[in-house]
Amino acid sequence: MPHFDFDDYGFDTRAVRAGHVRTNEGEQSEPIFATSSYTFGSAAEAAARFSGATTGNIYSRFTNPTVRVFEQRLASLEGGERCVATSSGMAAILTTCMGLLKAGDHIVASRSIFGPTVLLFNTILARFGVETTFVPQTDVDAWEKAIRPNTRLLFLETPSNPLIEVADIAALADVAHRHGCWLAVDNCFCTPALQRPLSLGADIVIHSATKYIDGQGRCIGGAVVGSEALVGGGIYGFLRTAGPSMSPFNAWVFLKGLETLRIRMQAHCASALQLAQWLEEQPGVTRVNYPGLASHPQHALAARQQTAFGGVLSFDLEGGREAAWKLIDSVRLISITANLGDSKSTITHPATTTHGRISPEARAAAGITEGLVRIAVGLEDVADIQADLQRGLEGVS
Ligand SMILES: *Cc1c(COP(=O)(O)O)cnc(C)c1O
Repeated sequence: MPHFDFDDYGFDTRAVRAGHVRTNEGEQSEPIFATSSYTFGSAAEAAARFSGATTGNIYSRFTNPTVRVFEQRLASLEGGERCVATSSGMAAILTTCMGLLKAGDHIVASRSIFGPTVLLFNTILARFGVETTFVPQTDVDAWEKAIRPNTRLLFLETPSNPLIEVADIAALADVAHRHGCWLAVDNCFCTPALQRPLSLGADIVIHSATKYIDGQGRCIGGAVVGSEALVGGGIYGFLRTAGPSMSPFNAWVFLKGLETLRIRMQAHCASALQLAQWLEEQPGVTRVNYPGLASHPQHALAARQQTAFGGVLSFDLEGGREAAWKLIDSVRLISITANLGDSKSTITHPATTTHGRISPEARAAAGITEGLVRIAVGLEDVADIQADLQRGLEGVS
């Protein structure tokens, strides 16, 4: 495959151009290769391609040129050697675990990770002999204490959902490596526009491309980024054989999303900060979780580790579930949906939606209260989002 080296270019240039090699048609925008298979010039060429003696396209479960442009572009933005695109963010997490772990292995994970990830670890991986211990996101000592001789993987998401807790990636990478483990970071909330975990020592970066990479709430997809040895080895091997692959159409949507990622993130972050500061002053709001606020316990860490504070915030209402539901039911503009990373602002009640399937005890331990409301701030006028919330807050206080 022809490969362009974009290492000398800046982030924005790579976001727009990395990975695309023009075909003979001279297209300006990347083409969608809607083909399941590829033809060979001869039987010998087919044999060489299948054996791996020569590289090239074989079958779109594991080789598709549009998917490859997305993979190379995202790898370049994350500063990784290799990216494998998957059918969803959950498929990216599953593919990582299936590619790296075996029965008898142990995972240490933050207890603040995405609800379905907790279920994947506890109910599915557990059936295949992989056990998981959950620890507080921000307590580095607790991570180290939870490590056993058979621990292979440390897994976290920072900032976390829905409490927006920030984990110290460099410190946890150090813990992982001292114990011969890998550190995997779900970088969904920040994207490489705000945070590059590999540069902080992480071994694997995981994405739900469904969120900010798409940016407009259209497609489901995911990705794993890291070294050629890790991602190009067992992780790609699992994808090739088991097939949780990204469709070429979705890859095209995502790679176009990468072109505007940084400027979109900048706008999401600016509006989220403004709303967080405003919410902190509203009666009936007992706590606002946003790392851009000086009141956030990991504000200094976030300022060091991220280039901005992200587009998601959450806050607690004095009146518990009743107040939270009443606020949510009163909005007219903001969409009531659990998705995030969309140009349209969304509002959700984590305790009864995204985190409704985990046990009440686990939910309480993770700090997800009945009065908690999460907002993923979109790209509408911030004054309109604020007015929408203002009306709702007046109704509950
Ligand atoms: C949405 C999400 C996922 C799962 O991604 P899907 O594309 O929905 O499968 C994983 N991690 C985080 C942090 C998410 O927000």
